Amino acid sequence: SKVPTITLNNGVAMPQLGFGVWQVPDEEAERAVGTALEAGYRSIDTAAVYGNEEGTGRALASSGIARDELFVTTKLWNADQGYDSTLRAFDTSLAKLGLDHVDLYLIHWPLPDRGTFVDTYKAFEKIYADGRAEAIGVSNFLPEHLERLLDETSVVPVLNQIELHPQLQQAESRAAHARHEIATEAWSPLGQGKGLLEVPTIVAIARKHGRTPAQIVLRWHLQLGNVVIPKSVTPSRIKENLDVFGFELDGEDLTAIAALDEGKRLGPDPATFDVV
Ligand code: NAD
Repeated sequence: SKVPTITLNNGVAMPQLGFGVWQVPDEEAERAVGTALEAGYRSIDTAAVYGNEEGTGRALASSGIARDELFVTTKLWNADQGYDSTLRAFDTSLAKLGLDHVDLYLIHWPLPDRGTFVDTYKAFEKIYADGRAEAIGVSNFLPEHLERLLDETSVVPVLNQIELHPQLQQAESRAAHARHEIATEAWSPLGQGKGLLEVPTIVAIARKHGRTPAQIVLRWHLQLGNVVIPKSVTPSRIKENLDVFGFELDGEDLTAIAALDEGKRLGPDPATFDVV
């Protein structure tokens, strides 16, 4: 595949661009993931709470692509935090995916007020030691949550998957990640396809390069070093979002996009999000 990989802090190679399946119903996931795999994606980002691990697993199985060419990420849902419940939830996810290991397992949210993410992560360390996840990491952790995890556990998470796009550039988190060799993975990289793709600065840069606004935004992430996992169920957009390796943004483009940061969250605030 033509997607470059980044090397995680444990030596595992991860495609820098993958396919996200949040809000894709299970019946549709098989087709959407199948289309993505056919287009050349090799990394798939799902989660227990998305309810589409089975459809995703069916697409992986019927693709005929060798397991070691695929990179499968799933996430532990909030209700399953805690040592024993994490081990059980992981078994369930593997069974639904139809796999004997995942490439990356993430704690979906920190739930800081519950104080269970350290025990949860200790179960992740066991899963990792047993070879059932090639890598372990977190999602939606603020720098203070990462500090606590690093103090109280031994395996440094390979990455933190956080909301990140030109209107929420997350400088503080990115700097914290860089200090600890934790990769940054951007969720809602396209700003959920809402206002961001119509912002005049993005539209103007798209015109200049003869590309689409979505391609400009994805290119910006890649040049920053982020891992990205755009989602679409539309075959033409699935292909378009992968076709971002044949051009480059210049310094002027990057400066213009840097100015779009407005700290605009589309999703919940990880400091207070507590839904199980
Ligand atoms: P996204 O930023 O990838 O936007 C997806 C939407 O943008 C699509 O539904 C479509 O409406 C539009 N779109 C996609 N491609 C387009 C194109 N080429 N042109 C125009 N519009 C286009 O949003 P997302 O789905 O929220 O995020 C991507 C993935 O990140 C998810 O599928 C999921 O895997 C992950 N995610 C993780 C968390 C978390 O808490 N860890 C939260 C949200 C999302």
